[in-house]
Amino acid sequence: MEDRRTTAIELDVSADADRLLQETVAQFEYCANATAEWCWADDGGHTVTRIADAERRLFRRFRRETALPPNLVQQAVRRGVEAVKSSVARLNDGERVGRPGFASGLAVYDERDADLDREGASLATTDGRASCDFVHSTNVEETLDRLADERCEFRGGHLECRDGDWYLHASTVRVDASALESDGEHGTALGVEVGEENVAVASDGTFWSTDGLANGCVAPAGDSQSPTGSGVKSMDSAVENETNGAVEEANSAVEKGTNEYGRAELYLHRVGNELVTAAVEHGCSHIVFEDVTHDSEAGTGASATTSKLLRQYVEYRAAEHGVEVARVTSESAAHRCSTCGFEHEDNHDGERFECLECGFQNHAAYNASRNIGASYRRRQQNATETNANAAKQ
Ligand SMILES: [Zn+2]
Repeated sequence: MEDRRTTAIELDVSADADRLLQETVAQFEYCANATAEWCWADDGGHTVTRIADAERRLFRRFRRETALPPNLVQQAVRRGVEAVKSSVARLNDGERVGRPGFASGLAVYDERDADLDREGASLATTDGRASCDFVHSTNVEETLDRLADERCEFRGGHLECRDGDWYLHASTVRVDASALESDGEHGTALGVEVGEENVAVASDGTFWSTDGLANGCVAPAGDSQSPTGSGVKSMDSAVENETNGAVEEANSAVEKGTNEYGRAELYLHRVGNELVTAAVEHGCSHIVFEDVTHDSEAGTGASATTSKLLRQYVEYRAAEHGVEVARVTSESAAHRCSTCGFEHEDNHDGERFECLECGFQNHAAYNASRNIGASYRRRQQNATETNANAAKQ
């Protein structure tokens, strides 16, 4: 079982470090925007959606044009490609979507370019490392306590500047030896509960908090960028024409209103990728979401939009790994005990789940995610039995 958390940690940044981080984030955004521009085919031609293809073409160019360390260049290219992929998925879903753009003031770090310890954070920049103290908070304490456990690892995070304050959304993963139970014949289904408190909770015990969504939501689908209409541009000429001035141009091209959206989207991507990775690691044949489209209350608003986008990302990524995405209608997911099956409304109170029958206690969303996975397995089991009975007759 893997326990993955993302926690927002505020950094106390000196004037020198601030200058370096600002420059780093600006160059990161430049690379992400230039990647999206290179990958995107406005004329409906070939859009590049493979990270390896974009990296092969752009890595050396960005190393030449910017002072970013190699890992940050790779992360920027990855960010650009992932955004293009998600736009392609949404286009295929019939939405009006244009080339993605970034102006959200953030850079994505993996664990090679960032370190956390009791003293503070150390982050790679355009000119060596910047050391930053923490602004002490319960988030910092919790993260440091988690990292004190040797089974827990720091996995990088994204650095963002919000209203002049710096935050590192630090990702930590704790791996426990106890593996997921498999139900043999039908493979394992990874259940996912999508909600308000947590963007997603998976039945392997992984939580993704809403910390990563700046405003706790994603813009409703109708607010997505309209096609840019900037005309056909061959990839080669786009490459040749890039100058450093493109940074301002790209930034101004992205409306202010899309900033939060971009940040939330990036985070959902990451959650989606991590869900698929978890399914593959656990040998799951299916990732199962709750079908909320028939539920008038849950089927509208920000969390429904988040849920839909997340499912789209997961569908897109899962297909590449031979994992299927399924939806189940599970009216009792919140009230049913995932250990003994006892159903009662009073089993569940807000985030708390405590079974009145067997005493099983856990986070309500985790209990629900286990029910979602189990409900799909039961459905498969029943279908198999029905088919077997039909064959006998
Ligand atoms: Zn129970």
